[in-house]
Amino acid sequence: MTGKNNAAYMTAIRRFEMKEIPVPEPEKGELLVKIKYIGICGSDAHFWDSGMRKGKYFDLPFLLGHEFSAEVVKTGPDVKEFRPGDRITFEPQITCGVCEFCKSGRYNICPNVIFPSVPPYDGALRNYMTIPAANAYKLPDNMSMIQGALIEPLAVGLSAAEKGEVKLGKTVTLLGAGPIGLTTLLACKAMGASRIIVSDLQQSRGEMALKLGATDFINASEQDAVAEILRLTDGKGTDVVFETAGSSQTAAITSDLVKRGGLIVLVGNINTETRYRFMDLMYKEAQIRPIYRYRNNFRMAIDAVAGGLIPIEQIVTRIYPFSEVQQAYTDSIENQKDVIKILIEME
Ligand SMILES: [Zn+2]
Ligand SMILES: [Zn+2]
Repeated sequence: MTGKNNAAYMTAIRRFEMKEIPVPEPEKGELLVKIKYIGICGSDAHFWDSGMRKGKYFDLPFLLGHEFSAEVVKTGPDVKEFRPGDRITFEPQITCGVCEFCKSGRYNICPNVIFPSVPPYDGALRNYMTIPAANAYKLPDNMSMIQGALIEPLAVGLSAAEKGEVKLGKTVTLLGAGPIGLTTLLACKAMGASRIIVSDLQQSRGEMALKLGATDFINASEQDAVAEILRLTDGKGTDVVFETAGSSQTAAITSDLVKRGGLIVLVGNINTETRYRFMDLMYKEAQIRPIYRYRNNFRMAIDAVAGGLIPIEQIVTRIYPFSEVQQAYTDSIENQKDVIKILIEME
């Protein structure tokens, strides 16, 4: 039994319109799912605010949203691992499986990827959608649907911490305490980082970071972040520096903050040119490592949350009903002081 399938189409910049669309039939290897909670990702907010992807306007109407938990309603032919009633989360990278990158397990850089919510592929801001069963992960009974909707951004944080080789006793700096900065913080803490220094321009984000386990917070709108971080580390810097703000200003200071022989991990989307003194890196023999989304770690993310190692639900600052999706997206852009991670509860 299915109900109405309402979809929140982006019809213009910063504008949603609700439209009822047919409930799709799951094809071979697919699941029909009913979405329960769906997050607003930085990329969703960017598309909604600009109408652009990679500097070009994309076609409207369009559906955003890719971070969700859902319930399986119906399974298509040849689906054996799922049945109606299963609670799931979704890994949104639908890849070809046959290119050299997919075949070597690095499917996050598959050139043929379909990523729902990245134009031109419609996302999940609707009651019902079909997804490949291969991209669904069952949630354990002790995991909430709210936690389930946060597995995707957590996968980014885990991917960053892994790339930074964070382990017991390491010291880290996080430049940016938005949702991805916070999931990276939680991942670093779970992996044993002993000192986690966070810098952001917003005091409220710093308070959240401290609540989640940061050892130090620097409000970069009031203090010189570089001087302060060097002071806190006896002039040495930290083993790992994460750029999670997606800003060329913070990217530019990473070479000052990294310890000799350390690692810099680029996590945020830095779209503008960055002035960088590469010689500083060479003196220290430090490395820059970018990550692109995540791969092979959804099960780890689910187990870490279900096992109580990562209280991921704590990053949520507000939950809006689906009928208030317009307000939810507006707040995610205009009210960054008060809202960090927003979820939308579907009816
Ligand atoms: Zn996301
Ligand atoms: Zn591929």
